Amino acid sequence: MSRKILVPWAMPDIGKGVLKKAKVESIFIHGPKGELPTLHELIKAVKTADVLIPRGTQPTPRKVVMANPNLRGIANYGVGYDNIDVRAASEFGIPVTNTPGVLTETTADLAWALLMATARKIPQAHEYTLSGQWKGPGGKAFMGQDIGPGGSNKPKVLGIIGLGRIGQAVMRRSRGFKMKVIAYDPPIKEIIQKMKGVEYRDLDELLKSSDFVTLHSPLTKETRHLIGKRELDLMKPTAVLINTSRGPVVDEKALVSALKKGKIAGVGLDVFEKEPRLYPGLAKLDNVVLLPHIGSATLDTRGQMAVVAAKNAITMLRGRKPKNIVNPEVYHSPEYLRRVKG
Ligand code: NAP
Repeated sequence: MSRKILVPWAMPDIGKGVLKKAKVESIFIHGPKGELPTLHELIKAVKTADVLIPRGTQPTPRKVVMANPNLRGIANYGVGYDNIDVRAASEFGIPVTNTPGVLTETTADLAWALLMATARKIPQAHEYTLSGQWKGPGGKAFMGQDIGPGGSNKPKVLGIIGLGRIGQAVMRRSRGFKMKVIAYDPPIKEIIQKMKGVEYRDLDELLKSSDFVTLHSPLTKETRHLIGKRELDLMKPTAVLINTSRGPVVDEKALVSALKKGKIAGVGLDVFEKEPRLYPGLAKLDNVVLLPHIGSATLDTRGQMAVVAAKNAITMLRGRKPKNIVNPEVYHSPEYLRRVKG
């Protein structure tokens, strides 16, 4: 009986090509416009598969894992893997992989574009111009925040929360703007303290002194609602918050309230607490720039993510150890060893 890889979303052709070249049987299920299967359909399909490739934010809860505890692996198409119940996968000795690295620069580009668009109110000004509201001199001025040193020649402070791959790529982009960079990332505090061009700050100090705060940590128990009312209260009223990490890192209820009260100047979001739903009132505010989770969305990068996910899936299908394992402890678990021998 041949082993199968399940791809329950519209994978880019370059990824499908990798699966085809390896001559593995693949099952693709999605709607005509790329709609994802329902949870019920996913559970049904996973029972006939040996490896699952979920789309980055496609929920893969315990129920899906339990539907087939004999899975040889779950190869996520994305670097964040909070969509997968990794604990459940580990319990059954199922390795989980992600796609780090290939999307770093693309996501940092998007974070930077969002920072600039939010600071200078570019979408709002674009809308004003397109809609014919611009009647010449004396119109709305769209006063924004400086990113570079501005007329008074004072460098702005960029606060990066989570100075991993994407956080560091954002830091590189800030150099052309002569910004002072500070960072908060407790797991690598000592590494940051030895790095050039960045100073370590605890969270409260970073929030108090940043002109821009940009979020690049993963979503974990520790980072859920890392930015809530207390933290927003600490920020400068002229500060701009950018989130391209995961929606639940920010408490959206507190965020909407802070924006309404002018506690911060603006927010740029690529991710939301309950995607694709927007928190009531968020879309009505004029100091927000909202994107539909497009951090890694370029043809090249999404293609390379598909290649990495497909290669990881093939490696696990063949019972070998893939590159990007997020739960390496499974390789010593009796459940995994039983399956490999069986
Ligand atoms: P990464 O290299 O693992 O960087 C994340 C950094 O955050 C690491 O240094 C990590 O430390 C640190 N961190 C962990 N817990 C923290 C905490 N409590 N407070 C502050 N920092 C903490 O990951 P990456 O490749 O840069 O990606 C970061 C995240 O971006 C992903 O997890 C994903 O959710 C998101 N993302 C979004 C998009 C999008 O489309 N918007 C695209 C790509 C990625 P340790 O590694 O030591 O834990």
